[in-house]
Amino acid sequence: MKKVLNYINGEWCEGSSGKYIPVTNPANGQVLAEVTQSTNEDVDRAVTAAKSAQKEWSLVPAPERAEVLYKVANLLKERKEEIAQILTSEMGKVIDEGRGEVQEAIDMAYYMAGEGRRLFGDTIPSELRNKFAMSIRVPVGVVGIITPWNFPIAIASWKSLPALVSGNAVVWKPATETPMVAQEFVKIYEEAGLPKGLINLVNGSGSVVGSAMVEHPQINLISFTGSNEVGKAINGRAGELLKKTSLEMGGKNAVTVLEDADLDLAVEGILWGAFGTAGQRCTATSRVIVHNEIKVELEKKLISRIKELKMGDGLDETVKVGPVINSAALERIDEYVKIGQKEGAKLLTGGQIIKENGLEKGNYYAPTIFTDVTPEMRIAKEEIFGPVVSIITVNSLEEAVEVNNSVEFGLSSAIYTANVNNVFAAMRDLDTGIVYINAGTTGAEIHLPFGGTKGTGNGHRDSGVAALDVYTEWKAVYVDFSGKLQRAQIDNY
Ligand code: NAP
Ligand code: MG
Repeated sequence: MKKVLNYINGEWCEGSSGKYIPVTNPANGQVLAEVTQSTNEDVDRAVTAAKSAQKEWSLVPAPERAEVLYKVANLLKERKEEIAQILTSEMGKVIDEGRGEVQEAIDMAYYMAGEGRRLFGDTIPSELRNKFAMSIRVPVGVVGIITPWNFPIAIASWKSLPALVSGNAVVWKPATETPMVAQEFVKIYEEAGLPKGLINLVNGSGSVVGSAMVEHPQINLISFTGSNEVGKAINGRAGELLKKTSLEMGGKNAVTVLEDADLDLAVEGILWGAFGTAGQRCTATSRVIVHNEIKVELEKKLISRIKELKMGDGLDETVKVGPVINSAALERIDEYVKIGQKEGAKLLTGGQIIKENGLEKGNYYAPTIFTDVTPEMRIAKEEIFGPVVSIITVNSLEEAVEVNNSVEFGLSSAIYTANVNNVFAAMRDLDTGIVYINAGTTGAEIHLPFGGTKGTGNGHRDSGVAALDVYTEWKAVYVDFSGKLQRAQIDNY
């Protein structure tokens, strides 16, 4: 049996619990490997290694640090297909999406390598004579990264690459469901020549390893992506410890379709957003807000196209919808479907666990569409994280915006319309961190800021130049070359 190990201070090693747990393929239940389980002790060793390596790393010129990132990018590129295959077998998304996700990590590596020659600060005129002022970015120190299973390499790349180019060291706890991809990513850092101690991989449960990272006094920042429940708990505790956090959490993303929209285009965007990655994307489309006049026609088109979506093992190139992550997820999704029915929503299609036609051993849920959903229903408000989408009818753009904005999350939104006035009003009024015009709710590019408003996050962004604000602190520097005491705000007024 393949073993997935920890990587601490440049060595592959077993977690100190001595225990392993299986890693399974959600498409067929096959055990792929077993992963070592760590304790506080392993976290402490990782942090100690990180702390000592970071001191030297912070003195390496950023363009030289970036050379490692270019190598990471090249190695990811060479091994794209291999990693995509592992990713798909470990967490189930269809292979095309697996490849796309690895590409995202490649893009991020090149982009952040470029930052090695920027990491811009500002020079700012001083209010005093013969005085020079500037702001510079400095590393935060040891960064704790906690990531989910649904984008096991992309999200890890969004966090580790800007952290490293900025001069930090990383302790990374990947999701328990996806340690194999994590191991591949760390192997690439190793091959690229990243000095030991700068990336440390500590496998284990969130409650043990994740909590130990939050508690550890020498971890200066926790960068977390995952559920609201866990993110809130992390933020609470980190707040008490005055530890910086960057949190990216849930979504309840909507596609709005106005009466003048290109319906066929909207249908493609909705299906891709709702059922890609079996609906397990933070940016998944889980609501469709449709204008009354075109509701029936849109529903007809959706039902007819949904039949063409083949379900199955994501490694099969013809499959469009893969399994969900595990049986607990399957049950949670089914529970939400029952809740929707009880609330009076009308099931248009789907609504069941699939256990037939060779899919008996995997975790398959039929692509599901509810209609006649009202904004107050739980299925319209809570994140389901599965292939379930709810259609809500409105009579105007204003009403659509109100419904879009009525949820506690604020990650992504989309609108289909041919009217330029509607476009600009929507760009202004949709209160999410990401807005798409005539495209679905997913499809972020790595050089733009990624993240959400309200309950989705705590004001930080992953990716884009905005990510640097997470992984660096600002330092203001004043150089007085007047040779005398100059008192700001006093001697010059
Ligand atoms: P999760 O249960 O919150 O897990 C995320 C990570 O946190 C995992 O590594 C998990 O470890 C760890 N964790 C669990 N309990 C912890 C604790 N008490 N202290 C510290 N760490 C802990 O989320 P998930 O179910 O894996 O992922 C799905 C969620 O992520 C959805 O809500 C989705 O919307 C969100 N997401 C958001 C974004 C975004 O950028 N906004 C992107 C992707 C996903 P274990 O695996 O060991 O439990
Ligand atoms: Mg798995």
